[in-house]
Amino acid sequence: MKTIGYAALSPTTRLTPFEFDRRDLRPTDIAVDVLYCGMCHSDLHQCRNDWGRATYPLVPGHEIVGRVVALGSEARRHRIGDVVAIGALVDSCQECPACLAGEVQQCREWATQTYADRDRETGEPTQGGYSRLIVLRESFAFKVPEGLDLARVGPILCAGSTTWSPLRHAGIGPGSRVAVAGLGGLGHMAIKLAVALGAEVTVVSRSADKDADARELGAHGFLLSSDPEAMKASARAFDMVLDTIPVRHDVDPLVRLLDNGGQLVIAGYVGPLDGLDTRNLMTNHRSVTACTIGGLQQHQELLDFCARHGVMPDCEIIGVDQISDAFERMERSDVRYRFVIDLGSLPVPA
Ligand SMILES: [Zn+2]
Ligand SMILES: [Zn+2]
Repeated sequence: MKTIGYAALSPTTRLTPFEFDRRDLRPTDIAVDVLYCGMCHSDLHQCRNDWGRATYPLVPGHEIVGRVVALGSEARRHRIGDVVAIGALVDSCQECPACLAGEVQQCREWATQTYADRDRETGEPTQGGYSRLIVLRESFAFKVPEGLDLARVGPILCAGSTTWSPLRHAGIGPGSRVAVAGLGGLGHMAIKLAVALGAEVTVVSRSADKDADARELGAHGFLLSSDPEAMKASARAFDMVLDTIPVRHDVDPLVRLLDNGGQLVIAGYVGPLDGLDTRNLMTNHRSVTACTIGGLQQHQELLDFCARHGVMPDCEIIGVDQISDAFERMERSDVRYRFVIDLGSLPVPA
């Protein structure tokens, strides 16, 4: 099936229109006409080959919403016309203990990423949602509950799932004290989700001007990380610090905010960690961990939760011709809080 997308052709070029083929449907595949796709920081990293995994042309995008337009011969989960959401994964081994439990993100054979990866059968590069059409295993597409604004559903799949997963894993709910460090795409979803779960939520940021933004998003408190006295006064004040800061940073000041048994969960930064002093962990069962998206059931649970609680990402909708400019603005943190591409403006090739 022919389709068109926007691709990076090298680590340094702007994204350009790119025609390519989607595979023929396997028995348990579906084809989805993409309506919208969110722009995640990973997209930027992958296009520039920051993680060394990119092959070009590279069509990014893993915060996808679209309509089912074709079903494989054994696909039973969705019907033609259904609206579905697709996140960071499109396939996995289907056989390991993690996959059998629906925890495909932990597949022992490495789950197939939506883009910048290789198809398990053909070895061909996978291409993401900055395109008009995508083909995937049906169990990796989730039902979008009725009534959601489709233009804003995409970021729930990555920014939402990445922060929902640790909140649920730790059993965050009424009475929990959660600090969210960093206020970007992930951070703003972390605030909304933790608040909706009933937690007491404080935003930790080094810029005082984020105070008003944090409270507008529902946070109950604000902690200025560049103020040593304020940080000292908040020592041991939290059960969880959800760290969404996307760049390398010193984590010890955040560890000191944790109460006994509390956990620092790193959600935003990928790579080696600076400044972790084990003395801050030894006597109080604090832990430092990192998270990624949740499993298949948790994705559906999250979409249903968002519909029930009216939790939606704050998005700026753009046309396909604005993608490269949006990348530049993302680098300057000049977005509140997620760009979403309207793929409807991209004509389907004959
Ligand atoms: Zn992402
Ligand atoms: Zn597996």
